[in-house]
Amino acid sequence: VRFGVVACPSCRRVQVVDLRHARPGCRGCASPLDLATLRTFYKGDSESEARLVTLRVSSQREGMGIEDYARLLERIERERTGSVDEALADLAKRGEFGRDDLAAEMRRHAVAADADRVLDALVAENRVYEPRAGRFRFL
Ligand SMILES: [Zn+2]
Repeated sequence: VRFGVVACPSCRRVQVVDLRHARPGCRGCASPLDLATLRTFYKGDSESEARLVTLRVSSQREGMGIEDYARLLERIERERTGSVDEALADLAKRGEFGRDDLAAEMRRHAVAADADRVLDALVAENRVYEPRAGRFRFL
Protein backbone atom coordinates (compact mmCIF):
# COMPACT_ATOMS: atom_id res chain seq x y z
CA VAL A 1 0.00 0.00 0.00
CA ARG A 2 1.48 3.26 -1.12
CA PHE A 3 -0.78 6.21 -0.35
CA GLY A 4 -2.51 7.34 2.80
CA VAL A 5 -4.57 10.37 3.77
CA VAL A 6 -4.02 11.86 7.22
CA ALA A 7 -4.56 15.17 8.97
CA CYS A 8 -1.61 16.92 10.61
CA PRO A 9 -2.21 17.21 14.39
CA SER A 10 -0.34 20.54 14.49
CA CYS A 11 -1.72 22.56 11.57
CA ARG A 12 -4.72 20.28 10.76
CA ARG A 13 -3.88 20.16 7.09
CA VAL A 14 -5.36 17.08 5.41
CA GLN A 15 -2.89 15.57 2.97
CA VAL A 16 -1.78 12.60 0.92
CA VAL A 17 1.27 10.87 2.41
CA ASP A 18 3.62 8.22 1.10
CA LEU A 19 3.10 5.27 3.43
CA ARG A 20 6.51 3.88 2.64
CA HIS A 21 7.90 6.50 5.02
CA ALA A 22 7.10 5.96 8.69
CA ARG A 23 7.34 9.67 9.61
CA PRO A 24 6.91 11.94 6.60
CA GLY A 25 6.98 15.71 7.09
CA CYS A 26 3.73 17.68 7.01
CA ARG A 27 3.33 19.63 3.78
CA GLY A 28 1.85 22.53 5.68
CA CYS A 29 4.07 22.99 8.74
CA ALA A 30 6.83 20.41 8.17
CA SER A 31 6.36 18.77 11.55
CA PRO A 32 6.87 15.00 11.42
CA LEU A 33 3.69 12.95 11.02
CA ASP A 34 3.75 9.77 13.08
CA LEU A 35 1.72 7.47 10.85
CA ALA A 36 1.52 4.78 13.54
CA THR A 37 -0.62 6.99 15.76
CA LEU A 38 -2.58 9.11 13.27
CA ARG A 39 -6.01 8.20 12.03
CA THR A 40 -5.81 7.24 8.36
CA PHE A 41 -8.76 8.34 6.22
CA TYR A 42 -7.61 6.36 3.21
CA LYS A 43 -5.08 3.66 2.48
CA GLY A 44 -4.50 2.37 -1.02
CA ASP A 45 -2.49 2.44 -4.19
CA SER A 46 -4.53 4.98 -6.12
CA GLU A 47 -3.16 8.50 -5.88
CA SER A 48 -6.24 9.98 -7.56
CA GLU A 49 -8.51 8.23 -5.07
CA ALA A 50 -6.33 9.53 -2.24
CA ARG A 51 -6.67 13.07 -3.62
CA LEU A 52 -10.45 12.75 -3.73
CA VAL A 53 -10.53 11.57 -0.13
CA THR A 54 -8.31 14.52 0.83
CA LEU A 55 -10.78 16.94 -0.74
CA ARG A 56 -13.73 15.26 0.90
CA VAL A 57 -12.19 15.15 4.37
CA SER A 58 -10.82 18.68 4.27
CA SER A 59 -14.15 20.08 3.10
CA GLN A 60 -15.89 18.35 6.01
CA ARG A 61 -13.36 19.66 8.48
CA GLU A 62 -13.46 23.20 7.23
CA GLY A 63 -17.18 23.36 7.85
CA MET A 64 -17.93 24.50 4.33
CA GLY A 65 -21.16 26.10 3.35
CA ILE A 66 -23.49 24.07 1.19
CA GLU A 67 -22.58 26.04 -1.93
CA ASP A 68 -18.86 25.52 -1.44
CA TYR A 69 -19.48 21.88 -0.88
CA ALA A 70 -21.57 21.58 -4.05
CA ARG A 71 -18.79 23.26 -6.01
CA LEU A 72 -16.26 20.90 -4.52
CA LEU A 73 -18.36 17.87 -5.38
CA GLU A 74 -18.66 19.12 -8.91
CA ARG A 75 -14.90 19.41 -9.12
CA ILE A 76 -14.46 15.89 -7.75
CA GLU A 77 -16.93 14.53 -10.29
CA ARG A 78 -15.09 16.28 -13.10
CA GLU A 79 -11.79 14.85 -11.94
CA ARG A 80 -13.26 11.40 -11.67
CA THR A 81 -14.81 11.35 -15.11
CA GLY A 82 -11.86 12.34 -17.22
CA SER A 83 -12.66 13.45 -20.73
CA VAL A 84 -12.48 11.31 -23.83
CA ASP A 85 -10.39 14.04 -25.46
CA GLU A 86 -7.68 13.73 -22.83
CA ALA A 87 -7.57 9.98 -23.30
CA LEU A 88 -7.36 10.41 -27.08
CA ALA A 89 -4.62 13.04 -26.80
CA ASP A 90 -2.47 10.64 -24.78
CA LEU A 91 -3.24 7.85 -27.18
CA ALA A 92 -2.24 9.95 -30.19
CA LYS A 93 1.23 10.45 -28.69
CA ARG A 94 1.82 6.71 -28.86
CA GLY A 95 1.41 6.47 -32.63
CA GLU A 96 -0.16 3.18 -33.63
CA PHE A 97 -2.65 1.68 -31.23
CA GLY A 98 -5.11 -1.20 -30.90
CA ARG A 99 -8.57 -1.46 -29.36
CA ASP A 100 -7.03 -2.67 -26.10
CA ASP A 101 -4.78 0.40 -25.92
CA LEU A 102 -7.76 2.70 -26.36
CA ALA A 103 -9.73 0.82 -23.68
CA ALA A 104 -6.74 1.01 -21.30
CA GLU A 105 -6.25 4.73 -21.92
CA MET A 106 -9.93 5.40 -21.29
CA ARG A 107 -9.77 3.45 -18.06
CA ARG A 108 -6.70 5.43 -17.03
CA HIS A 109 -8.64 8.65 -17.59
CA ALA A 110 -11.72 7.18 -15.91
CA VAL A 111 -13.84 7.67 -19.01
CA ALA A 112 -17.06 5.71 -18.76
CA ALA A 113 -17.82 5.50 -22.51
CA ASP A 114 -17.49 2.25 -24.43
CA ALA A 115 -14.10 2.03 -26.18
CA ASP A 116 -15.41 0.16 -29.23
CA ARG A 117 -18.07 2.78 -29.87
CA VAL A 118 -15.55 5.60 -29.49
CA LEU A 119 -13.23 3.90 -31.96
CA ASP A 120 -16.04 3.30 -34.46
CA ALA A 121 -16.95 6.98 -34.22
CA LEU A 122 -13.33 8.04 -34.76
CA VAL A 123 -13.11 5.88 -37.87
CA ALA A 124 -16.47 7.14 -39.16
CA GLU A 125 -15.33 10.76 -38.66
CA ASN A 126 -12.04 10.03 -40.44
CA ARG A 127 -10.03 11.05 -37.40
CA VAL A 128 -8.16 7.74 -37.40
CA TYR A 129 -7.26 5.24 -40.09
CA GLU A 130 -6.35 1.58 -39.98
CA PRO A 131 -2.91 1.01 -41.58
CA ARG A 132 -3.14 -2.70 -40.82
CA ALA A 133 -5.88 -4.90 -39.41
CA GLY A 134 -6.64 -4.00 -35.82
CA ARG A 135 -4.05 -1.20 -35.64
CA PHE A 136 -5.05 2.44 -35.81
CA ARG A 137 -3.41 5.82 -36.19
CA PHE A 138 -4.62 9.38 -35.84
CA LEU A 139 -4.60 11.44 -39.03
ZN1 LIG B 1 1.18 20.43 9.77
